[in-house]
Amino acid sequence: MKDRLPVIVCLLMVCSPPAATAQEPKAGQPMFERIDAHAHVFQAAPQVYEMLQRLDLRIVNICVVDKYERGYEEADPQHAKALEVFRGSRGRTLWCSTFDPQDWESPGFAERVIVELNKTFQDGAIAAKIYKSIGMELKSKAGRYLMPDDPVFDPILEFIAARNKTLYAHIAEPSAAWRPLDPSSPHYSYYKANPDWHMYLHPERPSKEAILAARDHMVARHPKLRVVGCHLGSMEDDVDEIAKRFDLYPTFVVDTAARVPDLMRQPREKVRMFLIKYQDRVLYATDLVMMPWDNPEEAVKQWEAEYARDWKYFATDEAITYSGHTIGGLALPKSVLRKLYHDNAVRWVPGILGAK
Ligand SMILES: [Zn+2]
Repeated sequence: MKDRLPVIVCLLMVCSPPAATAQEPKAGQPMFERIDAHAHVFQAAPQVYEMLQRLDLRIVNICVVDKYERGYEEADPQHAKALEVFRGSRGRTLWCSTFDPQDWESPGFAERVIVELNKTFQDGAIAAKIYKSIGMELKSKAGRYLMPDDPVFDPILEFIAARNKTLYAHIAEPSAAWRPLDPSSPHYSYYKANPDWHMYLHPERPSKEAILAARDHMVARHPKLRVVGCHLGSMEDDVDEIAKRFDLYPTFVVDTAARVPDLMRQPREKVRMFLIKYQDRVLYATDLVMMPWDNPEEAVKQWEAEYARDWKYFATDEAITYSGHTIGGLALPKSVLRKLYHDNAVRWVPGILGAK
């Protein structure tokens, strides 16, 4: 989620810079159905359904509990809305459920979560999400930070794997969270607006390295669980860091949600080679948001501009301007584009092609 335009304000995740000039890519639109593996649609808006149809898009609609963010305070209302949107979109918005981990020390926590998640799976959820509050915020009564590899999650993660669902893990944040505010960072406005998640202001909390190590440990401990590391797995600074994890953990993939601009900031050829080498491990995603109070016409316009910008970046060699920078498109081979935009989501998030 992002904070760059008022109509689709989303402060849960880190902002992106202003979208590039909205131009249709000269290479034209793809000739296949695209999947956006991570977005947030919590308004049953016919305008969105129409856009999905027109662009031949499918979305994974992500529920997430963030106590600091309006509309995301609790899981259940999001589940209900996601189901409504799924039906309204005629199955073009599949959904990912979630749970609130805040009472993890109370007896029967894991059992309760399993009952809740099971209900969402029965209602059609194809994945479940865990969030950055694990590692960055929640603390035990004894003063220990709850980390993603805490054994309390073991039965929950094993349950998700046993049901053949996928785990979406938004763990940690961009490195900018641990640094002083920097106006040149794509993540500046998010941390300016969200001091609760600006770790630089909370030096007593775990380091990014410690949180990612715990995330890696969680992945390693559950070899049957497919894990989508949201937002480039919070390794947005350097694709080499992502590559290291891909080499170590065969069940780990990443989505690009709200981090395409972070790819744009890295050397073009390096990113291109990374996406080609690991062409089976990256899922295209935007993190676009539509809350009940957003104007659907404005939101749809913004979404379309972003889809066009991203396609231009991945599919063409044209110049792309964003936030004052001009870079060259990656011109990925067609077979790689198809995996990035479709096949990888189908493979890593089974159920995504459910009834449309
Ligand atoms: Zn998101």
